[in-house]
Amino acid sequence: MIDLRSDTVTRPGTEMLRKMMSAPTGDDVYGDDPSVNALQEKAAALSGKQAALFFPSGTQANLAALLSHCQRGDEYIAGQQAHNYKYEAGGAAVLGSIQPQPVTACEDGTLPLDEIRQAIKPRDIHFARTRLISIENTHQGKALPLPWLKEVYDFSRQQQLALHIDGARIFNAAVATGQPLEGLSRYCDSLSICLSKGLAAPVGSLLCGSHEFIEEACRWRKMTGGGMRQAGILAAAGIYALDHNIDRLAEDHDNACWLAQQLTELGVEVESQHTNMLFIRLPESMVLPLQQWMDQHAIRISFSPRTRLVTHIETRREALQQVISAWKAFLRQLPDGSAG
Ligand SMILES: *Cc1c(COP(=O)(O)O)cnc(C)c1O
Repeated sequence: MIDLRSDTVTRPGTEMLRKMMSAPTGDDVYGDDPSVNALQEKAAALSGKQAALFFPSGTQANLAALLSHCQRGDEYIAGQQAHNYKYEAGGAAVLGSIQPQPVTACEDGTLPLDEIRQAIKPRDIHFARTRLISIENTHQGKALPLPWLKEVYDFSRQQQLALHIDGARIFNAAVATGQPLEGLSRYCDSLSICLSKGLAAPVGSLLCGSHEFIEEACRWRKMTGGGMRQAGILAAAGIYALDHNIDRLAEDHDNACWLAQQLTELGVEVESQHTNMLFIRLPESMVLPLQQWMDQHAIRISFSPRTRLVTHIETRREALQQVISAWKAFLRQLPDGSAG
């Protein structure tokens, strides 16, 4: 099976599993798990924040961040396609009575400051209180430009708003822009990081921020059922991931670039390729036959909501060569023998 649907499909390797097996553990709800504590300290140091907190998922880390920044009746501004607006089941509204104010992102994944400015509500009894700007890095694979990170951060200070970075794939952005994590995370109040995507840990995300913020988030984590006990076996995987799987993301980026070139040569319309993600546009009539063909060849691709291919630690170059061969064979057997 070659699975290009997402980098979430990555499984722990032998060395990571070994670390998990031998991890010292304790009851993390009491703060007693040495492995969880070590992971949190490591994340705080890497991000340059005072503290960090380990979560079962990125969705819960983002939710706890929103609940910590905003009160009932407050509002956060986020991209129309942002994960914590569109793909988290409306959790902020359902569980926090927090109103989202989406704005349309620019082509490069940034949010236009003029639109944010217009979306910020005056202090008036008619309006929700705007509290927070939430940005995503990477956004659909795009690493946000450094000058813009500084610009939106300065803007948030002027507007007295908090700034959250959904950094599920922040290390892809760090590698792509040649920055240490701190070079990106300095421009925010809080940052969520996913360990179970390109970094290949089986479970877990981290939320980083000030002591006060993390204390509040810890309460929300407990309330939403995310307080785990001997979570050290998972944290050990996270520590291994941070120690070994960051720099190698460059290989995933190279592979995605190679895949984009190969597909373009086959006449496939590549819409965009950034970091480890590529989006392609297929003629409507080709979607189902291609999906069936790839299924038969034990290759998985994401076809909805857009056709997307994501490279990761389990899709080495040889695997991608197989994907290209299967694609060529698919095109050959079409009635007109072309990409259409
Ligand atoms: C994957 C992802 C998350 C969190 O997802 P979980 O599956 O809940 O860990 C958050 N934001 C973005 C941008 C993501 O890609």
